[in-house]
Amino acid sequence: MTAHTQEQLFERSKKLVPGGVHSPVRSFKNLHTTPRFIEKAEGAFLTDVDGKNYIDFCMSFGPLILGHKDPKVHEELEAALSRGWSYGACEPYSLELAEYLLERLPFVDQLRFVNSGTEAVMTALRLARGATGRDKILKFDGCYHGHMDSMLIQAGSGLAGEADASSAGVPKGVSQDTLIVELGDIEAVKECFKREGKDIACIVIEPLPANNGLMPQDVKFLKALREICNQYGALLIFDEVISGFRVAFGGMAEKTGITPDIVTYGKVIGGGLPVGALAAKSKIMNHLAPVGLVYQAGTLSANPLAMVGGLANVRQCTPELYENLRNQTKKIVNIFRKWLDEFSQGQYKEYKIVQEESLFWFVPGQEPKNIKQMPKNLAQNFHALFQELLERGIYLSPNAYEIGFVSRAHDDELLKELERRLWN
Ligand code: PMP
Repeated sequence: MTAHTQEQLFERSKKLVPGGVHSPVRSFKNLHTTPRFIEKAEGAFLTDVDGKNYIDFCMSFGPLILGHKDPKVHEELEAALSRGWSYGACEPYSLELAEYLLERLPFVDQLRFVNSGTEAVMTALRLARGATGRDKILKFDGCYHGHMDSMLIQAGSGLAGEADASSAGVPKGVSQDTLIVELGDIEAVKECFKREGKDIACIVIEPLPANNGLMPQDVKFLKALREICNQYGALLIFDEVISGFRVAFGGMAEKTGITPDIVTYGKVIGGGLPVGALAAKSKIMNHLAPVGLVYQAGTLSANPLAMVGGLANVRQCTPELYENLRNQTKKIVNIFRKWLDEFSQGQYKEYKIVQEESLFWFVPGQEPKNIKQMPKNLAQNFHALFQELLERGIYLSPNAYEIGFVSRAHDDELLKELERRLWN
């Protein structure tokens, strides 16, 4: 392959697909370089079509907590492939995954599998509306909950940094039912409920906001949301698509001891296969069809291949794994910290690194706790850091607002390689 392969592939792709990509952040927009086309991946490494390899800190944006191509998941998937990969009928594999999860998530007693995080939140919102008979939803500025209309209002992820962090094509009729409040501002939440409490079906929040960088919240704030929901008969939805099975097996619900009414999962639950889920107590879940009147369905839901892959993945998510990931991430943050201080007489010195368990984020200046505090120079500055690391064979999530993910494959040997690449 020639040195121009990446550019050629990108040009070819742009003719076929808007912007050449199937998900916006992959386009490397504003990063002043061509997206790398990845041919294969193993452990902590991505290899592009030119044969250059990268230490991966994006890890498919979170699902691959064990690293790429984990041998056990691989083995189970191969066995599953030989049995066929979609039945559109009842099968035993989703039961095994559901039982494994529900035994370990004491705050819920039923779940339903879907194909993505977006689907999980979309259904959770409909369920909350169906269960309460109310239309309005309260969401926080900068939290991303997937790409359905009602959540594309002051969102994050690939939308972070866009003009009004929103999207064309969202009808007024939909957006007027989404109320937006600043993260951490409990007084504003109370005001909303005083004004419109009888119409608010739910509060939806990323209990660990991770789509506009990483903005850990005060547990007192999350507890206050729980209390307000109780007071007004609204439901509390924890969107744990990133934090679920990531910051602890039971995500932020387990870590904080706060019981949400509905939880949404994605990413790690499928270990890189398309799985999402929503979970709640039976009393709420019974509103879903075919038992209740809230409709939801999916041609490929609980696909046997995805269920087997998901189970092989979460079975390896032990307390030891989480402890190990936290320690490795601390070491990685320290390595990056040292490099940021030393490199080019501290060209990147102003960067801080926020860490929460196996998640980390580079931010210039003060760590923000809400969107208002987001550094103005964040996106403009990021491309230099991103490119510098990319050239050294280190792949960050390709957007200033997306966070870094550490996996089991980021072991001590890998850390030595990281140091070698940084100081080479
Ligand atoms: N909720 C959260 C908190 C997310 O981080 C994401 C994706 N990054 C979603 C929902 C949407 O998930 P998906 O991309 O699988 O549709």
